[in-house]
Amino acid sequence: MRAIVAREAGAPAELAEISVEELPAGDVTVAVSHSSLNYKDALAVTATGRIVRSFPMVCGVDLAGVVEASDSPHFATGDEVIVNGWGLSETHPGGYTQRQRLRSQWLTARPRTLTLAQSMAIGTAGLAAMLCVLALERAGVEPGEAPVLVTGAGGGVGSFAVALLAALGFTVAAATGREELSEQLRALGASEIVARGELDQPARPLGSERWAGAIDSVGGQVLVNVLAQTRYRGAVAACGLAGGAELPATVLPFILRNVSLLGVDSVMCPSADRELAWSRLERDLPPGAIEAIATHEPLERVPELAAQLLAGRIRGRVVIDTA
Ligand code: NDP
Repeated sequence: MRAIVAREAGAPAELAEISVEELPAGDVTVAVSHSSLNYKDALAVTATGRIVRSFPMVCGVDLAGVVEASDSPHFATGDEVIVNGWGLSETHPGGYTQRQRLRSQWLTARPRTLTLAQSMAIGTAGLAAMLCVLALERAGVEPGEAPVLVTGAGGGVGSFAVALLAALGFTVAAATGREELSEQLRALGASEIVARGELDQPARPLGSERWAGAIDSVGGQVLVNVLAQTRYRGAVAACGLAGGAELPATVLPFILRNVSLLGVDSVMCPSADRELAWSRLERDLPPGAIEAIATHEPLERVPELAAQLLAGRIRGRVVIDTA
């Protein structure tokens, strides 16, 4: 089988041949048809971040495919399944291969109205975007006059966040460092484009109240400024660090404006929350959104694409066809 394998710490992952005997322990074997390229995959494949915890490791945090063998009462041969996170590519071999063995409790049945390829177009990034939307809803952010801001809007999480919020009736402002993506972001539902440069410089601890809420996949100074510009009783769902892991903020937005900062993680998210998120993705994504956001690439291009993603040159989502 072909796979993208990280052999040792500090060395980029490469295309390799692996045998069935090398598959890890698990009660379900899946013939993998698709995976996807996430920011975390790009860090792992380029050995930029400390993602992979044991070597050798098949990279890829997402996978979709057909159950080939099962010792689980919950899954049978022929079932179509997806896996997002759960330590794939960190502590357990992941989706950049043609067959994988997994723990059945990590498997989600393919969402009924989506194909395996569409499920991977959404993937971890789209799942995280939906979890952010659910977090904002739980915090009481509702469609209204003030816009909801999406940062890193040209990326995977950001693109799905824009499409989902717009479909739910929110007025969406999309922050991007790539002005050339404005038209595509408006087509996904953004009413306003905000230049990244307006958000990534140090500013006053409290700015004018622009946003009813926000979905932030960037972190760092951008998240600090988003918090400072969020309206009284607004909420910000934070899921990423594409612009930095630090948070050089003050507490003023929290204690003077009652702003909530909501943490979102998809990797260890409980199965019940995932099922809710996938059912909402099926319900809320407008027709054509997935195709507008995703492109398809073969397994062997993953190393090259990972470098491009970290350089900020990938738009939306990339589905990896593993066959
Ligand atoms: P992408 O690379 O697809 O998107 C990231 C986007 O962030 C880029 O397209 C770019 O958008 C923007 N960006 C990149 N670098 C910078 C920078 N230095 N300063 C400001 N903006 C920047 O990645 P994903 O969408 O897959 O992931 C985004 C983040 O979310 C990552 O940190 C990832 O780890 C995290 N994540 C977290 C999850 C969770 O469960 N918590 C799940 C999925 C992702 P533009 O060009 O439009 O400005």
